[in-house]
Amino acid sequence: MSPGRRRYDEEDVRVRPNPRGSRPRSKERPRHEDAVLGRVTAVDRGRYTTLVRAGDQPRTVLAMKARELARKGVVVGDQVALVGDTSGAVDTLARIVRIEERESVLRRTADDTDPVERVIVANADQLVVVTALINPQPRPRLIDRCLVAAYDAGLDPLLVLTKSDLADPEDFLRDYTPLEVPYVVTSSKTPGGFTGLDQVRARLHDRVSVFVGHSGVGKSTLVNALVPSADRATGQVNDVTGRGRHTSTSAVALALPDGGWVVDTPGIRSFGLAHVDLARIITHFPDLEPGTADCPRGCTHDEEECALDAWVAAGRAGPAGASRLDSLRRLLRARGQQSED
Ligand code: GDP
Ligand code: ZN
Repeated sequence: MSPGRRRYDEEDVRVRPNPRGSRPRSKERPRHEDAVLGRVTAVDRGRYTTLVRAGDQPRTVLAMKARELARKGVVVGDQVALVGDTSGAVDTLARIVRIEERESVLRRTADDTDPVERVIVANADQLVVVTALINPQPRPRLIDRCLVAAYDAGLDPLLVLTKSDLADPEDFLRDYTPLEVPYVVTSSKTPGGFTGLDQVRARLHDRVSVFVGHSGVGKSTLVNALVPSADRATGQVNDVTGRGRHTSTSAVALALPDGGWVVDTPGIRSFGLAHVDLARIITHFPDLEPGTADCPRGCTHDEEECALDAWVAAGRAGPAGASRLDSLRRLLRARGQQSED
């Protein structure tokens, strides 16, 4: 442990003089009435970059966790209470004394290098899956996995289809219209400007949107257009040196000029779905959900005894029932495929 860090730890447990001298000493931590609220925008080796909006000007405050939070995870998107030096001046370090209750958590599980399930972003509203229509080719199984992760986390999905100057979106969309996932078709290379950018902006306004996408799809180009100060490195990745890219692989939250947040996730290529709650996926198919009432207990909805087939065959899920059931099962099966494709 570095001497600097140690000093902060001790300061944290120092007994504060009680100004009135009458209140009984309590084992409870001070309630930090003077704390200010900030949102965590980046995490790097125990240092948390936060944006504090109190006062006239938003300011960036670097912080560490107070001792009582040592075992708690603080992630990008968390709303936290800060005490100590919250001026944001150079070489100051505030302390995070509380994590506000999270409205959502986006997790990733278990890949070969990381067996632990981790929360990667807190309080997101939306998962934006960025896919190129060509170069690189769309990867439907990967997209389906992202949709499952979104539904499981309670986030709204949004598909952003890039490079429409190079390929027609029609073929691709045929597979996705039955899922009723909202989408925007974009091109950064249209002579008249960035096609679709305003539509994307409208969908992000005042929301916290996590962007995921395989490398080369144009995610950085898009993020830079949305957040001009973001300065995300673009261009083809050199797989050998990785040069020309941000070395960071963790999520970072970028404030949108007109309100809302873009959370870029350079390190996330896919989602392990082992933790996914099947029951949550069906809730995103409200036209099918009532039909599960007659399912056998513990039905996966992708088995012979599933009552949904009869429900759909009887027309009770409407004319699109069969294709909706296919869509549901496609997502349910995505969970079973743990290999990243
Ligand atoms: P990232 O790896 O997803 O962040 O992708 P980049 O933003 O770095 O873009 C990868 C490459 O695709 C770059 O050469 C971009 O100039 C190019 N690109 C991005 N968007 C478009 C687009 O809409 N049309 C075309 N033709 N190329 C694009
Ligand atoms: Zn069933």
